[in-house]
Amino acid sequence: MAELTAEIVSVGTELLLGQIVDTHAATMARLLAECGIPCLRRHTVGDNMERVVETLKDSLDRVNLVVTIGGLGPTQDDLTRPAIAHALGDKLVREPAVERQLQAFFAKRNVAWVESNANQADRPESASLIDNPNGTAPGLLCQKDGKVVIALPGPKGEFDPMAFGPVKAFLADKVGAQVIHSRVLRICGMGESTVEAAIQHLLQAPNPSVAPYAKTGEVHLRVTAKAPSVHLADAMLDPVELSIRAVLGNAVYGVNDTTLEEAVLRELREGKGTVAVAESMTGGWLGQRF
Ligand code: ATP
Repeated sequence: MAELTAEIVSVGTELLLGQIVDTHAATMARLLAECGIPCLRRHTVGDNMERVVETLKDSLDRVNLVVTIGGLGPTQDDLTRPAIAHALGDKLVREPAVERQLQAFFAKRNVAWVESNANQADRPESASLIDNPNGTAPGLLCQKDGKVVIALPGPKGEFDPMAFGPVKAFLADKVGAQVIHSRVLRICGMGESTVEAAIQHLLQAPNPSVAPYAKTGEVHLRVTAKAPSVHLADAMLDPVELSIRAVLGNAVYGVNDTTLEEAVLRELREGKGTVAVAESMTGGWLGQRF
């Protein structure tokens, strides 16, 4: 299979109404990066068959891996399963063994069986089921014509174990050992455009790539490498960090989570320096930051 590139499709009107935050898409984006799979776009679409199918088809035209989140439950608005079947040109088939498991699950808990529960035993023809030990709706792993569609349920207690268990194992196996690993260089005392102009020669490189982000009072440079391991990625990031430091000097005050306060205090400790703060109009804010 060609190198995998991915898009994530989160399904749910609750997301569009802002009633829940799409934390699973961020989790999945990180997981894809850990597997070394570039995620090119993320989409959020409501519980509407036409729009879900259209979004899936568009994504499948661009990339060979689509991960959907949510909409796998038994109710009318849970339409991810038929939407995937439609987008792939598959029929939906029912898995009698899963239907029996679902019936047994409800019987064991003395919960009345409603026929719509059986929808969760449906799968597109090209799909295998991803076991969901913490809920009723199995996930889907569809492989057709060089494309992969993975569907995971919305509840966190179901999504996380499935994503980090069988899905991550499947993806890692598909891509071989690959990671996308980043290092953030933190810069103060220089504006974003000055930083960008100074490192122009590094911005076009694909691997490691360098991307500037303006933050409050500082600029961050995210340097990202794709490599077979974190160790090898770090070895690729080292020379890029050195070139950046060579140009920007001590405007680079820290790496990754180092805060400006920590960096200043570290310098003071190393130089056995002290600091006194006399503040006016700042309400003691500078002292508080220290
Ligand atoms: P169910 O079987 O419970 O119906 P489902 O796969 O149909 O599962 P949804 O109905 O879409 O999932 O969502 C169920 C719940 O999961 C939501 O109310 C929300 O709490 C959580 N959830 C869904 N999607 C997301 C998301 N993208 N990020 C974070 N939480 C989510």
